[in-house]
Amino acid sequence: MITPNMNYGNLKDSYLFYNISQKVKAYQNAHPGEHLYRMGIGDVSLPLCDVVIKALHEAVDDQSDASRFHGYMPECGAPFLREAIAAHYNARGVNLTPEDVFVSSGASDELGDILDLFDRGGSSLIIEPAYPAYVDANIIAGRKIIHLPSGRDNGFLPEPDNSAVADLIYLCSPNNPTGAVFDREKLTKWVNFANEHGSIILFDAAYEAFIEDPTLPRSIFEIPGARTCAIEICSLSKTAGFTGTRLGYTVIPRELERNGMNLNDMWIRNRTTKTNGVSYIIQKGGAAVFTEEGQRQIQENLRVYKNNAAVVTKALDKAGIWYCGGKNSPYIWLQCPDGIDSWSFFDMLLNKIQVIGTPGAGFGACGEGYFRFSMFGSPSDTAEAAKRLESLLCKR
Ligand code: PLP
Repeated sequence: MITPNMNYGNLKDSYLFYNISQKVKAYQNAHPGEHLYRMGIGDVSLPLCDVVIKALHEAVDDQSDASRFHGYMPECGAPFLREAIAAHYNARGVNLTPEDVFVSSGASDELGDILDLFDRGGSSLIIEPAYPAYVDANIIAGRKIIHLPSGRDNGFLPEPDNSAVADLIYLCSPNNPTGAVFDREKLTKWVNFANEHGSIILFDAAYEAFIEDPTLPRSIFEIPGARTCAIEICSLSKTAGFTGTRLGYTVIPRELERNGMNLNDMWIRNRTTKTNGVSYIIQKGGAAVFTEEGQRQIQENLRVYKNNAAVVTKALDKAGIWYCGGKNSPYIWLQCPDGIDSWSFFDMLLNKIQVIGTPGAGFGACGEGYFRFSMFGSPSDTAEAAKRLESLLCKR
């Protein structure tokens, strides 16, 4: 009889979003018609920008004409998109070639699939609180997980520690859920640590477009030495509203090697075996994001989310609540007031002011006592939620 992957039995049930939806449903049943202010889920609310929509329409028309029709696309990405992404990095002073760039259908897919490159008996260092997919992908792959807790004392940005060495190191900056962003100095320490130990950093840059402070790195490849120890996984989901359209990219420098194996070559082999590429239409839409006009238009949408963050952080400042994120990030990570736990705070916000957020306990044990707000909602709802929060929290 076949043996299934028994590692699935080691996955913990994820009650986080299920519990939230059950609590919200119960509240709505008891209070029919009452409006809820949703700052829980990290999905975007604004539509794709015009330049992307136009490119998508044109690409659909191409598919209707035999002379412009595209069948299978190259597995590692259309040259026009790989070139556009490399040029986008080059314009910011990061030296990449199109061959370093692999087009994907999103960061989630890559965060799981990339583990194919590494020995299943290896270990992964995950900084907590963490995006839950890191932990689950490693459990499914049967890898050993080393948890590195972070907290308010280090601004949720821990430094490398010689007692926590692993083959793979997950870094997410700007971070989900904490909104914390590594500066150049701290990221350099991680790059040096990875090179010293022969580890590989998986750098999740899904929220890089939210960084406004020019001194903060948007890519790990801004750090000297990263090309010999890092893979960057990025997404257009939050940058350009592609959560439902699906497009991302992964950067594996041509010179990245371990044990005489070239990881870029290995990923080419992996992609040519396991995918037939991302749809031509979607890649055309994605390429529009990297044009000058595309960059201008996505900034207009990002500005809306950043303004939401400014409104909420102002309310928290007035109420004297500690938080990180909200600047250079679409997430605000706050300390629950008066030492209450994160699910009690969730209940309090839902029942008293009809605001929904995400309890920090759902992102790992050291998230207990903290709470995440997402800034991807509508400005009017966010403004009303901020007003309600301020008045509730100032009454303490
Ligand atoms: N990485 C982080 C840190 C995320 O928060 C998310 C989505 O919320 C992803 C990756 C997944 O992005 P994608 O939509 O490209 O799969």
